[in-house]
Amino acid sequence: MLPGDLAGIIVTHEHQDHAGGVFKFARRHRLPVWLTFGTYQAIRAQCDDVVFHFCRDGEAFAIEDLQLLPYTVPHDAREPVQYVVNNGVLKLGVLTDAGHATPHLISALGACDGLLLECNHDRQMLSNSAYPASLKQRIGGDYGHLSNQTASEILHALDKSRLKRVVGAHLSLKNNTSELARAALASVMEERVEVTIACQEDGFDWVGLARSAMN
Ligand SMILES: [Zn+2]
Ligand SMILES: [Zn+2]
Repeated sequence: MLPGDLAGIIVTHEHQDHAGGVFKFARRHRLPVWLTFGTYQAIRAQCDDVVFHFCRDGEAFAIEDLQLLPYTVPHDAREPVQYVVNNGVLKLGVLTDAGHATPHLISALGACDGLLLECNHDRQMLSNSAYPASLKQRIGGDYGHLSNQTASEILHALDKSRLKRVVGAHLSLKNNTSELARAALASVMEERVEVTIACQEDGFDWVGLARSAMN
């Protein structure tokens, strides 16, 4: 996708792997940015000369023909949200950077056609890794990142009646493998649901969510 095709940028939280480069890109291509007030406060020094809009949990907004609904997630940032995107036909849920499941996020992600879901680490690999204890605690803690197991528990609890594809994402290069993440997600899903694993370096190819793919 070329910058000319983009109508805006949504930011989930201030951590560098999500907000780094956003404002430079927005300035260069004159794109507006949506973010929460808490995220803005954390990175306001980078916001000069950028058009931005505040968003908050539970209040939908539109970018062209897409409706976006931010929802709060438990993560160690100032006011982190993730988004559900709806074009009137299909609903896409995105969840990365959350330390544990909450009823709020499970409700927000219900009845999606597609899901992008964090599978950050395998608990055993994280516990055996060379990371310092404090980092292990942060990643595995209630405001850190989703393990494969927690991701599969979330998936299990969701309304999956419309789900056609799930993409495992935000995998740790050191504490996870695509095979483990895929197995965890597949273990709680019917076979008709496609599982794709996004790689930290290359992401994933364009994938379809068309209604006809259901049949
Ligand atoms: Zn984060
Ligand atoms: Zn992250």
